[in-house]
Amino acid sequence: MIAEKQKKEFYRAFLEKNKAYEGIFFVGIKTTGIFCRPSCSARKAKMENCEFFETAGEALSASFRPCQRCKPLSPHACEVVQRLVDAVEQDPEKQWKEIDFKKFSVDPSTVRRQFKKRFGMTFVAYARARRMGLALKQIKHGKPVIEAQLSSGYESGSGFREAFGKMIGAAPSARQHHQVLTASWINTPLGPMLAIADENALYLLEFIDRRGLDKEIERFRKKMKLPIIPGKTGPLQQIEAELKAYFSGKLREFKTPVAFLGTPFQKKVWEELRKIPFGETRSYAEIALAIGKPSAFRAVASANGSNQLAIAIPCHRVTHSSGALGGYAGGIKKKEWLLKHEK
Ligand SMILES: [Zn+2]
Repeated sequence: MIAEKQKKEFYRAFLEKNKAYEGIFFVGIKTTGIFCRPSCSARKAKMENCEFFETAGEALSASFRPCQRCKPLSPHACEVVQRLVDAVEQDPEKQWKEIDFKKFSVDPSTVRRQFKKRFGMTFVAYARARRMGLALKQIKHGKPVIEAQLSSGYESGSGFREAFGKMIGAAPSARQHHQVLTASWINTPLGPMLAIADENALYLLEFIDRRGLDKEIERFRKKMKLPIIPGKTGPLQQIEAELKAYFSGKLREFKTPVAFLGTPFQKKVWEELRKIPFGETRSYAEIALAIGKPSAFRAVASANGSNQLAIAIPCHRVTHSSGALGGYAGGIKKKEWLLKHEK
């Protein structure tokens, strides 16, 4: 059941065509019998003619038909991306062609746009980067360059080197250290997240729609001075499994090893955040006190906001002493949802 107060909020979001509510609710229009996404561009009905649902399935069972304009049943663009990413994982050595998209009944130009947005590269480049990642691993494990080149599907050595160079920044034989970071895409009920890790620890976990994520990744890349390629290392597999368990209410504490990239002060704050138990909250002032800097609550709030490991480091558990929620880089809706979920 959706509370009266929530309905008002949903209705406001519906009027504003607020994309942040995608996936959070669907709205059935009693006068026409159709149901829509929050961001539908059709003319909006009056509040009293709207019925709100948490899933498209509920709207369907209440006998609403899907809207022709916003197509609430067609997969959200990011689901398409996820399906393709999964397909690459199943057969990472495959060389993708436009015709392959037909199987997924998706328009190649949509795929191109979505991938550019998420990964800064086209799908074909993504799949190639993944193959390259495998080749790189083989080189790390001592396979000669020529073999890696053949198994990654590059017949000509120069083509391989060029593609490799674009991805990694230097030709294989020229690189002393073959360290790379891998990035993976994780779907959650609150929207997709981007995770970046090396072989040992998770460095970044953020909601894709977090404000300023592009800049954050750019800063991260500069700081790390390492190439980022798509793939799934141990910490990425672990965090994906843990997030799944967390969202289904089966996990209270994250165990994926993490790496903190911050100032000593920020690290101290983040360590303190990890101590806040599941289901509880602390104020910025309490955290400041706990790290022995009682007057530094503003700096604490700022360190809290620069946490790069959403959910795993529970910055959402810090609120104002007044009881007000305070900010959340991933959007206040998500903070509210997470706190409610943990209750
Ligand atoms: Zn619609």
